[in-house]
Amino acid sequence: MTPVPGILFIVAAPSGAGKSTLVNALLAREPDISLSISYTDRAPRPGESDGKHYHFVDRATFDAMAAAGDFFEYADVHGDRKGTARTAVEPLLAAGRDVLLEIDWQGARTVRAAKPDCVTIFILPPSRAELERRLRARATDSEATIARRLANSREEISHAPEFDYILVNDRFEDALADLQAIVRATRLRQPLQRARHAALIEELLKA
Ligand code: 5GP
Repeated sequence: MTPVPGILFIVAAPSGAGKSTLVNALLAREPDISLSISYTDRAPRPGESDGKHYHFVDRATFDAMAAAGDFFEYADVHGDRKGTARTAVEPLLAAGRDVLLEIDWQGARTVRAAKPDCVTIFILPPSRAELERRLRARATDSEATIARRLANSREEISHAPEFDYILVNDRFEDALADLQAIVRATRLRQPLQRARHAALIEELLKA
């Protein structure tokens, strides 16, 4: 029997909104979701490791993968290339596994066009001041990088209306509960449930 296809979730946010922490906490609660590890041509930051935070490759390798059609989506983000490998998405969805992409608004736009049934979520920080504080607290980035990210955050946030859901990450536990609620409610949507429980429905309808 062909499995019911998995759900593709996309989570985007300006840098500093707390997206990765929220996503990691979600995955701890919902282990049946696979997180796609992106490819990038930027250098690893201190504490980042290859294959865990990103697959770190040089620009020539990235461009060769793009030319070969290996990416499900890719974009130039803050001057670095970032991309989602097809192999991190398509076989998993086909096997019935849910997949989550942490990508920017450009990638979300590409995926939405190719796969309109994806579920897209945008995370907002509670205020501009808090966004700035969180960016500074990271302390791994230079002042110039922080300033660039603050400027870029405006552009990212301007695309929030393109997303299905908007969360405000003020109290972490509330934002996590909201994110989990979206996942659980999506899984309960009628066409998916009808496919999963076809035998039950048939049995219940028996005269
Ligand atoms: P970082 O701070 O890790 O350099 O960059 C984070 C930004 O790159 C975030 O906006 C994140 O959503 C985006 N990003 C990470 N991976 C991908 C990807 O595979 N595709 C796209 N389009 N954006 C990505």
